[in-house]
Amino acid sequence: IKKAEVLDLNFGYVSNKKVLNHITLPVYQNKVTALIGPSGCGKTTLLRCFNRMHDLYGEVHYNGEIQLYPDNVNILGKQIDPIEVRMKIGMVFQKPNPFPKSIYENIAYGLRVRGVKKKSYIDEKVEDSLQKAGLWAEVSDRLNTSASALSGGQQQRLCIARALATEPDLLLLDEPTSALDPISTAHIEELVMELKKTVTILMVTHNLHQAARTADYTAFMYLGDLVEFGESSQVFTNPKESRTENYITGRF
Ligand code: ATP
Repeated sequence: IKKAEVLDLNFGYVSNKKVLNHITLPVYQNKVTALIGPSGCGKTTLLRCFNRMHDLYGEVHYNGEIQLYPDNVNILGKQIDPIEVRMKIGMVFQKPNPFPKSIYENIAYGLRVRGVKKKSYIDEKVEDSLQKAGLWAEVSDRLNTSASALSGGQQQRLCIARALATEPDLLLLDEPTSALDPISTAHIEELVMELKKTVTILMVTHNLHQAARTADYTAFMYLGDLVEFGESSQVFTNPKESRTENYITGRF
């Protein structure tokens, strides 16, 4: 079942330079899809199209669609309000970026912005999302202390909890472990595999082992093209395209 689908997407930050070239990509529900490829190939740009972050950059040029199912909403539709889009899509960045607030408020804030007022519901959601992010046992006795006191790995799990609290249709992870130590990285990888039971995940990663270990599907991008898409087991062991093979075997 497809949760989302990129359809013939072209994108450029300036009109004469294309960063994404006719991208078509399915995103399967309750699966992890990894976007891999050399630096500058357009992975982050593609990921950011899913929550219309480019609306914050000023002039950009694009055509094509990103359909969100089952509602058949085109995220890139001109009539679509980007703020509405961001309400439904969770995003976690490379560098953990909790709000300079308490652990509790990091999660409660997004719920209040969405109009949730009932304290008992917010309390429940705070616990539930911290549980899902594997952080509850570590922080349940200090929910009102500042998030900045947490370790980097804990901060990243808090950012994941914050994204999950609003029950997003899609969770976007932009190199979620590249700023973390190996133990925190392993934690997040385990978490990603667990989370797909309840949410659909699209993840940019430079770490090929991470993609092979955690992603059900992998898309390989090169210079703005989507060169190859398939089950990770196939892409990593039996790539169809020579550009994919060269990349995963470290030849460029
Ligand atoms: P990396 O792995 O290094 O993060 P990436 O594959 O995620 O790279 P993007 O960050 O999407 O690639 O960048 C693709 C191209 O778009 C690059 O040539 C980059 O310089 C350009 N680019 C990215 N962001 C902007 C921007 N805000 N304005 C202008 N050009 C940009």
